[in-house]
Amino acid sequence: MNLNRKTALIVEDNNQNRLLCHDLLESKGYEVFEASTGMEGWKLAFKHHPDVILMDIQLPDVSGTEVTNWLKKEETLKDIPVIAVTIFSSPSDRKKILSEGCDGHIPKPISVRNFVQTVEFFSAQSAEGQRNA
Ligand code: MN
Repeated sequence: MNLNRKTALIVEDNNQNRLLCHDLLESKGYEVFEASTGMEGWKLAFKHHPDVILMDIQLPDVSGTEVTNWLKKEETLKDIPVIAVTIFSSPSDRKKILSEGCDGHIPKPISVRNFVQTVEFFSAQSAEGQRNA
């Protein structure tokens, strides 16, 4: 593994959305890990400790907000930014999702520019946190 390369974890059960996120992140130089269930995402977060996590909310096993809450209770994982990527996109949905523990929010359908800008913003914060640790 190249320690200088940024890493991202995508937790998304829809193949098309996962592929789109994967391609966008890869085009920005990220090493990408993928999970299609909440439990798998939980395990991969521990395994890879990514710089940023893209979290679908509607997953087949547990909700993305639930997984996020588990992550935020872990001392070693709580500082990883979790960005919800979701069809719940109204201002009140966004507010609710952020109040439930996610750090950021990207509405679906995904806008390429918004996706890339949001991910870069949070992964830069993540890198900053690691430097100051
Ligand atoms: Mn889903």
